[in-house]
Amino acid sequence: MKNKNLQNKQNGTKAVWAGQNDLFYYGATQVPIVNSVTFGYKNVDDWFDVAVGKKEGHIYSRNTNPTVAVFEEKVRVLENAEAATSFSTGMAGISNTLYTLLNQGDRVVSIKDTYGGTSIIFLEFLPKKGIEVSLCETTDHDGIEAEVRKGCKVLYLETPTNPTLKVLDLKRLISVAHEVGATVVVDNTFATPINQQPLSLGADLVLHSATKYLGGHSDAMGGLVCGKKTLIDQIFHYREINGATLHANSAYMLLRGIKTLELRVLRQNENAMKLGEYLEGHPKIDSVFYPGLKSHPSHEIAKKQMTGFGGVLSFSLVGDFENVKLFLNSLELAHLAASLGSVGTLIGPPKVTSHVEATEEERKALGIPESLIRCAVGIENIEDIIADFDQALSKI
Ligand SMILES: *Cc1c(COP(=O)(O)O)cnc(C)c1O
Repeated sequence: MKNKNLQNKQNGTKAVWAGQNDLFYYGATQVPIVNSVTFGYKNVDDWFDVAVGKKEGHIYSRNTNPTVAVFEEKVRVLENAEAATSFSTGMAGISNTLYTLLNQGDRVVSIKDTYGGTSIIFLEFLPKKGIEVSLCETTDHDGIEAEVRKGCKVLYLETPTNPTLKVLDLKRLISVAHEVGATVVVDNTFATPINQQPLSLGADLVLHSATKYLGGHSDAMGGLVCGKKTLIDQIFHYREINGATLHANSAYMLLRGIKTLELRVLRQNENAMKLGEYLEGHPKIDSVFYPGLKSHPSHEIAKKQMTGFGGVLSFSLVGDFENVKLFLNSLELAHLAASLGSVGTLIGPPKVTSHVEATEEERKALGIPESLIRCAVGIENIEDIIADFDQALSKI
């Protein structure tokens, strides 16, 4: 067996083979789940060399673990990053990254539409630590540029956003941030490396909730950050000490799931597009938000920077919230549940999921209609999903 050079290979190949260059213990072809907290050495010299980083190896699973390392390597290769490190959840990855990069007196610029948990870090936790946070109107590129030019340590972006799939022009914002010496972090959870590669557009760090598309089966949680080695080393140090480590069991589930990432995401792109087109033509639907549709305000930017438009879309029904309940309660196939990125379709109203804590006025300010429904389309046959939507819509 020759060593695999994955640099010139495509995403489907990378996802299968990255981190699996060799056979494992006893010639195992699949990655073993190494449930060992500690790693032993036959002599002190070897142990010492690993401890000081002179030799590769593992010491203690809060720091590194062989199963976890394979998962990190798969995402690193898919994102074309210098380095990657993982976390117990996506939020652990986001908080550890922000706490590593930001100190008292620093300033961070971001957008109003970040993921709910991230937005709470910006509004609640960072200000308490003496960090200035400026959250801009999400698609107001001029406004974001102006805030960045005032000076900031970090520009934190997420695109497409939840739940109305607003898209940010990464190249444009990253270049302005670099003019003022800021580090640019992008949450790439919705797009996945299959549809969008922020590092190739100049970003310094890319974050993932691996709980979503990377794992792909809604059965394991994890997070990941990848990018410049100097930055990843600092974030790794923060995480190894603060302890939000990914477990080997979860790492195995995630690395098993990620092998089919390209197949799933390409299918979900296609399914979401077909469902969006169907909904756009339906008389009971008020509006549809999907960056793949020409009607979406971000369509042109999305076309420029993404190779696919993703598996999440949202739409609002005619009438009031009673119609939302009637429609959702009549569905047969999709799970009424939070989250996204699973093989099975997940659906729910932001009013009771991601934006349950916002007031009606706050939702309105974010452009979220009260009767909005977010749908994370799965890999099912889309004809079956559309037929199910059709019968449920006919109840209204
Ligand atoms: C789910 C999600 C997160 C948080 O990830 P967890 O694994 O739930 O901690 C962060 N960002 C985005 C865009 C998400 O969808």
